[in-house]
This record gives sequence, structure tokens and C-alpha cells, in this order.
Amino acid sequence: MEYKTLTELSKELTTKKISSVELTQFFLERIKSFDKKLNSFITVTEDHALQMAKQADEQRAKGEAGRLTGIPFAQKDIFCTRGIKTTCGSKILDNFISPYDATVVKRFNDAGAVLLGKTNMDEFAMGSSNENSYYGPVKNPWDLERVPGGSSGGSAAAVAAYLTPGATGTDTGGSIRQPAALCGISGIKPTYGRVSRYGMIAFASSLDQGGPMARTAEDLALLLQTMSGFDEHDSTSVDKPVPDYLKTLNDPIKGLRIGLPKEFFNQGLDSEISKIIHDAVREYEKLGATVKEISLPNTELSIPAYYVIAPAECSSNLARFDGVRYGYRCDNPKDLEDLYKRSRSEGFGNEVKRRIMIGTYALSAGYYDAYYLKAQKIRGLIRDDFMKAFNEVDVILGPTSPTPAFKLGEKMNDPVSMYLSDIYTIAVNLAGLPAMSIPAGFTKGLPIGMHLIGNLFDEERLLKVAHNYQKVTDWHTKIPEGF
Ligand code: GLN
Repeated sequence: MEYKTLTELSKELTTKKISSVELTQFFLERIKSFDKKLNSFITVTEDHALQMAKQADEQRAKGEAGRLTGIPFAQKDIFCTRGIKTTCGSKILDNFISPYDATVVKRFNDAGAVLLGKTNMDEFAMGSSNENSYYGPVKNPWDLERVPGGSSGGSAAAVAAYLTPGATGTDTGGSIRQPAALCGISGIKPTYGRVSRYGMIAFASSLDQGGPMARTAEDLALLLQTMSGFDEHDSTSVDKPVPDYLKTLNDPIKGLRIGLPKEFFNQGLDSEISKIIHDAVREYEKLGATVKEISLPNTELSIPAYYVIAPAECSSNLARFDGVRYGYRCDNPKDLEDLYKRSRSEGFGNEVKRRIMIGTYALSAGYYDAYYLKAQKIRGLIRDDFMKAFNEVDVILGPTSPTPAFKLGEKMNDPVSMYLSDIYTIAVNLAGLPAMSIPAGFTKGLPIGMHLIGNLFDEERLLKVAHNYQKVTDWHTKIPEGF
């Protein structure tokens, strides 16, 4: 079988060229043959998948199918799945079987998608390389010695190697876009509040947002449609109608105003990446867009602000993992305090502990004003920069990541250099904006992602802008050798 997009597979199911059971078997076989190399799945739900596929075929036979009915799909292991192990990449949840489905999971189940399994990730979504997983690192299918990016690296590698036509990711500071860029696939982080966070294990609640990862913008439109919408279980979910993202996908983009932030094209950026992004800009000019330089002057403050806010929120969110009600519990605790201490110190990995310590420090009496409050003020300035820019342009374009995929181990002993991988993505989360990464070229055999940032709730336009580019380029169609 050829490497079809999710949208194409959906058509094949509709025209009965293939059944869901056949399609599911095909992807399960691929996972069996290739995932030993990649480690992109933590759990493969084979029996469950085949049963869901059978049901989907029955539904189709009755003429009750939607576009996702019978489509194999993977969930990042941060989303709770009822009756199925949900680890968040951590030893502390290694024995956790979720008693309920996340809203996102429920929506995919209701749409008839077939769950192939749960994808590997950095522990509690903290990381940019997937090396922080309790289940071992994920490898980049373009070069097995390199990282796939993180934290949604399992989803990105699985889609890139065609082990699943699509997957979910979550993005707190770049975790959908950066791995999408490093693995040569497409991914969108929606506006904060667009997709429900209910049942999505919390890292930094004011920044976390789930979104889809797939080969094309067209696939993302279909998946985002399924995921989005108000959820009464999530108080930050926004009650706003979800547009039909597929309807406007093919509209022309003549007259589109693109802004290039000068801060995204400075010294830190690999020169080959800069060239690739400028080539992409020229494609947009050919499609009738106008381009101007803009400024986001507080960009360099986004990493320091984020690394106060995100750890502060995580230190509070992760307090619930205490060895009492669920998850890992140490052996033979002496007393309650020993139970807390040892369960947490044995259950959490190093990066998670580092963040909990930073966050607890930043929130402690006497430091709150100096760090947390100040970081929140910077957050306001960053948001204002974007709002000003969107008075002049419709979308902001730049690179997703300053470098292509780096070598496994290269940044493990240098957290700050690891944190800098998200220099272009983090500000977007601080401002709550939607943004996506799509493949825009290669350097030395490694894929490069183009970053498109939109105004609040402007996903429809972003998807259209990305789709227009994918109609005239073929970077999104490439499959890594050996897969
Ligand atoms: N790499 C960033 C971090 O480590 C972002 C992670 C994310 O978006 N979940 O926090």
C-alpha cells in the first residue's frame, strides 16, 4: 500500500476499497516491524484496535459512518484512556489504568477512530528531545542517532514513519510544533481554550493545549474539527462555535499579509534554515501574499518567563502524585512522610524534579513577587507585542526551531541549551495563540519546519495558509528511508 494521508484513507474507507480491519492490521503490522527501532509507542492496544475496527466496519455497512469512522489513530500517553494504561511517560504512573476517558479521547472514540495505542513522550511533557521518558528515548526516523524533538516525540516519529496516519500531541511551550518540525510532519497547537484539557494530564495549566499531528494541513483540519469545542468539564474551555475548517481550506490567499519577525532571524538561527524559510516566503509571494518585517521585541524574555511560570504551575499540579491514591508507591514506608518522600523521589525523573524545585522556590513567600509576578508581567508584554503585530499582518511566519534534529545525548547535560530549542515556539503559548509547523525543506537529509502563528481563534486561516503551500510543494509527502 502507498503512503496515503488520513484524508485519502478516509476516502478509501468510504468507497470500500479497504475495510477498517484491513487498515488497522496494516498499521499494527508496521508498528510491529518498525517500532523496535523507534520506540514511539509505550502501549500498543492491538486487540482493542481490532475490535474497534470491526465495529467501525459494521457501522459503515449500516451507512452510519463519519469521516473518521474506522481510521487508525494514536493518542499521546498524556491523555487518559479508560481501561488502558496511561503513563505520561513517568514511572510514577507506570501502573496507572485510567478509570475515564479524556474529552479528546472520547471525541475520537465517538467519531469512530480506532485507537492503535499510546505514544511515547517526555515525562509529564517536560522536554524538547523525548529523552526524558521513563520508557526510553524515541529515535528520529530520518536519522536514528538523532532526537525526534519533544515532548510529543512519539507521536511525531510514529506519523513520520507512517506507523499511524495521525496522532494527538500537547503543546505547553512547543511540544507539538517542535517535534513536528524535527520529524517533517504537520502539527497545530490551537488557541488556548479551543480544545478541552479534561483528562489531559496537567503540566502547566495556563499554557497546556492539545492538538493534532499528521502529514498534511488537510488532515489536521479534519482532526482539529473532531477535537475542538466547548467542554463543561474544563473551566478554561471556550464556548465558541467551531468553524468548518475543511470548507475554507482551498480558498485562495491572495492579499494575505505575512509578517516576518526580525527577532526570529538573528544569530541563533542556522543559516540553511533561514534560507529554507525565505524560499517558503517566496512561494507565498507567488500565491499573492505580501510580506513585511515586523518586530516582537520581547521574544528573548519568553524563555526566562516561561521557565518561571511553567515550573511554578507544574510544582502545584504534580503535588497530586503522592503515592496515596494512585500511581507508584515506595516499598515499606516508615510513616506518611516517608511514603510521600520516597514515592516521589523514586517515581519522578530528574527533569521533573528540577522543575518542581524551581517552581516551589519561585512560588515561596518572599520570592513570589520577584519571580512569578514579574514573569506574569512579561507575559503581558509578550501578548501585547503579538496584538500590535496582528494590527498590521494576518499571520506571522518564521522557523519553528533554530536547528534541525540534534544528536541523542547532545543536550542532555545542558538544560539551558535544551530550553533554547523552543525559542520561537514558547512566546505563542504565553500569549495563548494558535500556531502550526509544516514541512518546508531539508538540510543534510533532515527536515525543517516552517512556523505559522495566527491571531486568537484564527485556526481556520492558518490551516488554509498551510494547505495552500502544501498544494504547490511536496515536502510533506516525503517518507524517511527504510520505512
Ligand atoms: N520543551 C518545553 C519544556 O520542556 C515545552 C514542553 C511542552 O510544550 N510540553 O517545557
